[in-house]
Amino acid sequence: MQEQVAIIVGSGTSGLAIAACLSQQSIPYIILEREDCIASLWKKYSYDRLHLHLAKELCELPYMSFPASYPKYVPKNMFTQYLDDYVSHFKISPMYQRNVESAEYNEVSKRWFVKARNASSGEVEIYCAKFLVVATGETTNPYIPEVEGLNTFTGEVLHSTQFKSGKDFKNKNVLVVGSGNSGMEIALDLANHGAKTSIIVRSPIHILSREMMDFARIIVKYLRPSLVDSLMVLLSKLVYGDLTKYGIRRPTEGPFYMKRMHGKYPLIDVGTCKKIKSGEIQVLPSEILNIRGNDIIFKNGKSHPFDTIVFCTGFKRSTNWWLKLVRLHHHTCDKPTATDLKPPPRPSEAHYHGHPKPILRERESSP
Ligand SMILES: Cc1cc2nc3c(=O)[nH]c(=O)nc-3n(C[C@H](O)[C@H](O)[C@H](O)COP(=O)(O)OP(=O)(O)OC[C@H]3O[C@@H](n4cnc5c(N)ncnc54)[C@H](O)[C@@H]3O)c2cc1C
Repeated sequence: MQEQVAIIVGSGTSGLAIAACLSQQSIPYIILEREDCIASLWKKYSYDRLHLHLAKELCELPYMSFPASYPKYVPKNMFTQYLDDYVSHFKISPMYQRNVESAEYNEVSKRWFVKARNASSGEVEIYCAKFLVVATGETTNPYIPEVEGLNTFTGEVLHSTQFKSGKDFKNKNVLVVGSGNSGMEIALDLANHGAKTSIIVRSPIHILSREMMDFARIIVKYLRPSLVDSLMVLLSKLVYGDLTKYGIRRPTEGPFYMKRMHGKYPLIDVGTCKKIKSGEIQVLPSEILNIRGNDIIFKNGKSHPFDTIVFCTGFKRSTNWWLKLVRLHHHTCDKPTATDLKPPPRPSEAHYHGHPKPILRERESSP
């Protein structure tokens, strides 16, 4: 068994940021990462046209800015290059292919005991540490809902993490299930490449542009959040108009309220709305009832044939399977300091990084 001061689980952007902060404070740590690279979400499980949805100054990691030459909305390849440079600069060396299967606090030794399966050897390794940082993200395990007859579907079925580009789907009938940011952008990419694209928009959504997000970021310093929400809805109505005729409804609660209270992100439109209005992307307002062969039958009684289904239905966290919990200290994107790593007031607390609210029950999230 190997004893450490701090164990970070996950080498996504949160884990890397924590690692850099710890090394700045000369606090030793190790990172256990189940994949064979850092930032696997960005390097392996995202589509080619992906750019950071938020302006670059909001997405840089502590102690290292993006290069000045980078565009405002950083494309995926530049973002991963920046992360590789970050790792070299702070000499971060995650232990790869270590899937953490359990982490438990021992009240007597006042240590966390972490079991990780080494994917190369198949062995379970045990690590112990005074501090545990959970940086496993919102997007741990791809989620596809159960759909009756999905196993009879004769076409191709993908999760958004497997989708790379619309170029392979020219002239194909493609159904995108899920209208979060990934679903809407994948639909756009498909339509851009000549696929006959449909998207299921089940729930009401807020649609904002990048510029509106920038504006919100400025005015939130001066105005009440509820007022910012009202202004955003007004701007969205002015820019996008009434979208109900295209099958898209607005929620009654404001966009940032929904983000804060329900973890639901507003849709940041990068061109999908225009394609919906022009009819190049068809919105299907009904859920799937079942599937027979290549026919998809919807709850409103209609049915359409499809060649491909892309499920953009989000992810499930895995922490509730392996993290034997107690109480969490939660850090959002602020830079942690040595003070954050002082022994917690109650012995069995863990540090959780990356989401505004620690949510311990399993839930679906779609960034
Ligand atoms: C399409 C898309 C667009 C996005 N756009 C933006 C954006 O513009 N700006 C922005 O800030 N965010 C964006 N996000 C959100 C994204 O989640 C964050 O950018 C970032 O990847 C979150 O980092 P993280 O470290 O918290 O989680 P992740 O990047 O998910 O990293 C978690 C790490 O933990 C590892 N892990 C999980 N479970 C275990 C385990 N049991 N044992 C060991 N390792 C484990 C995973 O392999 C992974 O490497 C986007 C996300 C998606 C999917």
